[in-house]
Parts: sequence; C-alpha cells; structure tokens
Amino acid sequence: MCGIIGYVGKKTASPILYDSLKKLEYRGYDSCGVATVNGDGEIELKKGVGRIESVDKKVDFKSLTGKIGIAHTRWATHGKVETRNAHPFTSCNRHYALVHNGILENYVELKKELVKKGHTFTSSTDTEVLVHLIEEKMAHDDNSNLIKIITEVSQEAKGAFTFLLLDKVRKEIYAFRKDSPLIIGLGDNEFFASSDITSFLEYTNKAIILENYQLAVLNEDCIVYDVSTGLKIKPKVSTIDWTAEQASKSGYPHFMLKEIFEEVEISKHSLEQDPVKLKAMIEVLKKSKKVFILGSGTSYRACLLASIYFAQIAGKQITPVLGSEYKTYQNLVDKDTVIFAISQSGETADVLEGIYLAKEKGARVVSLVNVMGSTIMRESDQYLTLNAGPEIAVASTKAFTSQVLILTLLAYGLADKLNEGKDNLNEIVSVLDQVMNLSETLVKLAKDVLNKDDLYLIGRGSSYPVAMEGELKIKEIAYIHADALAGGELKHHTLALIVPGVTCLALVPNDQTKDDMINNIMQIKARGGEIIGISSENLDVFDYYIPIPQVHLESILMIPVLQMISYYLSVIRGNDPDFPRNLAKSVTVL
Ligand code: GLU
Repeated sequence: MCGIIGYVGKKTASPILYDSLKKLEYRGYDSCGVATVNGDGEIELKKGVGRIESVDKKVDFKSLTGKIGIAHTRWATHGKVETRNAHPFTSCNRHYALVHNGILENYVELKKELVKKGHTFTSSTDTEVLVHLIEEKMAHDDNSNLIKIITEVSQEAKGAFTFLLLDKVRKEIYAFRKDSPLIIGLGDNEFFASSDITSFLEYTNKAIILENYQLAVLNEDCIVYDVSTGLKIKPKVSTIDWTAEQASKSGYPHFMLKEIFEEVEISKHSLEQDPVKLKAMIEVLKKSKKVFILGSGTSYRACLLASIYFAQIAGKQITPVLGSEYKTYQNLVDKDTVIFAISQSGETADVLEGIYLAKEKGARVVSLVNVMGSTIMRESDQYLTLNAGPEIAVASTKAFTSQVLILTLLAYGLADKLNEGKDNLNEIVSVLDQVMNLSETLVKLAKDVLNKDDLYLIGRGSSYPVAMEGELKIKEIAYIHADALAGGELKHHTLALIVPGVTCLALVPNDQTKDDMINNIMQIKARGGEIIGISSENLDVFDYYIPIPQVHLESILMIPVLQMISYYLSVIRGNDPDFPRNLAKSVTVL
C-alpha cells in the first residue's frame, strides 16, 4: 500500500503533488510528506501524522517552492505512525530524498552496515535504508553514475521496493519499480511518477506502465532503463481511457456512495465483454482439469459465489482459495491446473504470491481485474477486465458487483448457455435502479434497527457468500461486529447467541433455499431474535422487510442492498466510509 507521486515540469511542484497525493490517499492515510528542490537548489521537506488535509493545515505543503518534487501517503508496515517515520527520507548530506512503497526485507542487515559506516538514521522504517545505501554507494563511485548504483541496490535489496529518488544536484527523479506498481505520466513538458494513474489523470492520460526492474529517469525528458541489462529501452506508451471526472466524487458525499450508485451503469459495461476474449476464457476453464479461484477480502467472496454458480449452472468444480492461503494447496497444482485470479486492483500481494508459486508448477493463469496494465493482468495468460472505472473508496462495491456478474456469465458460458446467462444478468441490471431507490428505507432501518453492537446475517446457497460480503462490509466501515452464517449452521453453534433483541438480516431469494431459510428464521424467532428479511416476497416471518424485485439469481440483487446498509451504518456512527480505520486499498504487502 502507500501512495507515491513525483512531479517534474515547468509548474510549481507542491500544489500538484498535494492534489495528486489526495487522490492516492485511499492507499494509506496514517501520515504523509512532500519534498521538493527549492530555488536555492536545496531539498525542502514537510511531513506529519494524520490525513493529508489535516497535516497540510499544520505544515502548509503548498509553501514548498521548486518545480520538482516527490510525495508519499503512508500505510505503516515498519515503524510506528510518527512524524519521524513518515516519508520522504533524506540522505545524511541531503543530496537525496526518497519515498518508497513496499517492504525491504533485509533492511536490518543493511542498516547495521550503514550505521557502522557512519550513517545517521532518523526513523525506524525499512525505507530509510534505501536512501543511505544510495548515498553510500555514490560516495564511493568515481563516475557518480546513479543508474549503475540503483542497479546495485536492486541486486542487494530484498523484498518489494518501488521508490522515487529525488536528486537535488541533477534535479532529476529516479523512479524505480520492484513489486509495487509504478506508472509514469507523460504530460505536456512535464512528467509524473505515481502508484496509480488516477492521481495524474487531470494532466495526462498517456502513461508508461513500468515493469519490475525498470527505472525511469525524469528531468526535461523521460528515459527508461532496464536495470538488469543497464540498457535504455523504448517503453510502450498506453492511452488510459479513464477520465478525471470518474475519479472524482461528482457531488456525492463519499466515493463509496457514488460507486454503489454507479453500479446501475457500469454493470452494463461489465457484461459487454469482448466476445473473443470471453470465449477464449470459457474454453480454458472448460478444458482445465482443476481450477483454483484465488482472491482476498471482498474478491474472495466473489470467488465463493462463483464456485456455487459454476457448480449449479455449469456442473463445474472450481475451488475457492484465499490468496494468503494458496500455499496450502500448492501440492495439488500442476501444469493441468488453472489459477483464476480475482482482484480489483490487480496488485493484491497475497494473490500475486499465489500466482508466482503456481507458475513455478507450470499452472496456467487467467484473471479478472479492474485496473488495466496491473501486475496480475500482466502475469496472466488470459484476462478479462471489469470495466468498472476507477474504484477509489477503500471498501470495494461496484468492483464486487462487476466481478459477480462476469463470473456468473462465465458459468453460463461453461454450460453453453451464454445467451440465457446474458438475459438473466441483463434482467438484474435492468432493475438495479429500483434497488438504489431503497436508500430511504435502508437509512431508516440503519438508524432504528441495525445500529447495534452485533449483527447476524444468514443465507444459503448463493446468498451465503453474499451474506459473508455483507458481514465484511459492516465490519470494515461501520465497525460493528457482524457474523454471516449459512442458515443450516445456526443449530450447530450460533443459536447460543440468539437472545431477545438480537437482530438478524435474512437473505431469502426466491429459489430452492427458501423453505430451509424459513425454518432457520423460525429457529431465530423462537429465541426472541428479530428478522429483517431481504426478499422479493414479504413473508409473514419477517419483522421488517426490504423488498427487492423478483428476478432469476435474486441473491445478486442483495449485494447493493447490503452495501448501502453498511454505508449508512458507517455514516450514522460518525465514521468516514471512504477511509476505514487501519485499512487501505490495493493491498500490496503480504
Ligand atoms: N515499509 C514502508 C513503511 O513502513 C512502506 C510501507 C508500504 O509501502 O506499505 O513506511
């Protein structure tokens, strides 16, 4: 996680860095900092603990002068959240400042050596080692060739270390990528280097997506080197079709609410998959002997739901696996296995680790991602994209709905029923706006009934993973303890917690799970629990009712309902739903 941004051009850097940094805040927001080379040719630096706006009020980032600079918004991995641990860090001679995204695994050994050689450290981070290591090597290099030095650093350092190095003498930024994303924006007489395209979209949509071990040297030009060979390369320039407007709140109070409401539109785009790519993906899945479908967090819930629809619709077994638990299954993976990676950002470190390990066993990798050019996409033999536009809120909403729609479409494809699938899914898309109209009902329920310390959600079949995603969202942004259960499990344990006044959201789609769900609801009511039913039918057993339109695959329609409930609960409880405590988007650490 962490967001890094660098700017070099004709304009004053600090206001640009400040605005871009705010767009990267979803990647980490415990502390932040900006460094520029000022008019006297010196590195000037300001940093602090807290969200970017509040730190700016204290330090006034925009007062930094100079036309070149770097900035960072942090999600701490090594070293407490303190000002001294906020990036950027400078070398002892203040010739260099550096920001980093990743974890330097061998920093303890490297730091020991550097301290022995007389370097003074000001933080407890792993990151600071990088800037001192570069300074140390430069002091002993007759030709003072930074490219050669960065090559050496890339060989000695272990782990993930994408960084931006600001050199006050050369007035250049050295943007190096290893295992965390780094994109170079090519503007009009100006260059950007950032963790994410959205941070510079306002200025340019032309970008170079750096690969591992590539280094871009930015001054009045942009030259890219492959440090493993030391040679200049001619990188591919991509035109990004996202707009700056898509990455703004457009009048909504939060990105999360905007992104939930966008589901009405983007769901259509998600289903408009390139027929050739879709068919090719279906063929790979069909022919595979074994499929492991990998995801983390919300994407993992999409994997669970996919495994159910693949079984029910296509009679195909796929095994859902948490990215972080992939190693457990490594023994089962071989060249006839397909790894199906699901990730909004396409950078999820847990999933990527699984992909790398599976590739060693000769497995084929296919993926479903939102971010074009992302690492998972590039590591895949084949991929489909969500077409959901940029998702900024930390809690994933529209990306999850898109994932579910596309995975369900694939299930129909595997069953040779693509047209039936399209009809059923388009039926869902056509009534999504009716679901969005439930917001008033949901605000009232959130205020009057759901604002409790504990909530339970029950579902069966396809509505069980949907309940699990509801549980995740409620915990993630409302900070309410929630527990999702398959209805049949209640009697094995959680009924012990049902006492008068306990609230339970019951997901009752009009499918084969309905009768069993009613039995489970009765078990809860017999112990005094109250039921909020989400269903296309107002059943007698409900104490409160959330009506959804009657469609095939009703469980999918319950997704935005639970997203909105968690959003309203978060707001009612005074939280910021876009920036949940201790969490960040695009989880690039293991
Ligand atoms: N390891 C660095 C720190 O703790 C960067 C963290 C990250 O990129 O997530 O400051």
